[in-house]
Amino acid sequence: MKQEINTLLESYLAELGRVPDLSALERLRLEVLGRKGKLAQLFKDLRGLSAEERPEAGKVLNEARARLEGAFETARERVTSASRKGPAVDITLPGRVPQLGRLHPITQVSTEITSIFQRLGFEVAEGPEVELDYYNFEALNIPKDHPARDMQDTFYISDSILLRTHTSPIQVRVMEKRKPPVRIIAPGKVYRRDSDITHSPMFHQVEGLMVDKDVSFGDLKGILAVFVHQMFGPKVGLRFRPSFFPFTEPSAEVDIQCVMCGGGGCRVCKETGWLEILGSGMVDPEVFKMVGYDAHEVTGFAFGMGVERIAMLKFGINDLRLFFENDLRFLEQF
Ligand SMILES: [Zn+2]
Repeated sequence: MKQEINTLLESYLAELGRVPDLSALERLRLEVLGRKGKLAQLFKDLRGLSAEERPEAGKVLNEARARLEGAFETARERVTSASRKGPAVDITLPGRVPQLGRLHPITQVSTEITSIFQRLGFEVAEGPEVELDYYNFEALNIPKDHPARDMQDTFYISDSILLRTHTSPIQVRVMEKRKPPVRIIAPGKVYRRDSDITHSPMFHQVEGLMVDKDVSFGDLKGILAVFVHQMFGPKVGLRFRPSFFPFTEPSAEVDIQCVMCGGGGCRVCKETGWLEILGSGMVDPEVFKMVGYDAHEVTGFAFGMGVERIAMLKFGINDLRLFFENDLRFLEQF
């Protein structure tokens, strides 16, 4: 019988060494340790032994049971930990990093422009995007039949309500409410019926206005030179070119040396070496009259620029539409 017990022990120990999963293990356990299992049968067989043989065989059988129980426990641990390390959950893989948002390049540039002027003492002003015709045109010296209205393709909501075509109406709203001196910088969205590689029906402008006693064209040039040098670098040249806007007189457009070729001439600057970046001028006395300022008492200048244009030049982007497609591959570069 001792021989029989040892054979059984060996064969099950070997089986337990290679049992693949918990259900196979349980099957083995019932087979050998179960109430009707092979060990139980052997314990029954003890009764048939002689009084001399029985204690010795009983001892061997008890030892065999203890070893098997230990071996089952070991096999259970092995099988359980193996199933935990299965391919479904690999705890050694790095976690998934959540995508970080960031400021849109237009927001970044708009904030940068605004903060340069804030450091020069300008305060931020805002106005409505759905605007009255009066503020968008008439108060800016552009009456109904004025040819300058052709310059702008306007989205009208009704005869007297429209989507503002520029940020200039903010000037008028601020001057109506305040007495000079006024020094404001006004960023915001504007709308025009225009859409191609360099135009979008919605785009962004920043408007500036300074009104006080004895504000001169020299002040305008000085302020804008500081702005250009902070925005594009201290060595970038700029020039003022005579122009026309209904709400400023005299008016000037400001060009900077081409940021792509440094002024030598390239495709971006159409071989001129210069790039137009903003419009400006001395506030027209007619505009002061509309808001109740005395044009003999105060003078002022105003300027306005397109944020997309500045951003395209600053980042070297050649298609305006990229700003509005929300393609993460593009946006993640800023
Ligand atoms: Zn160029």
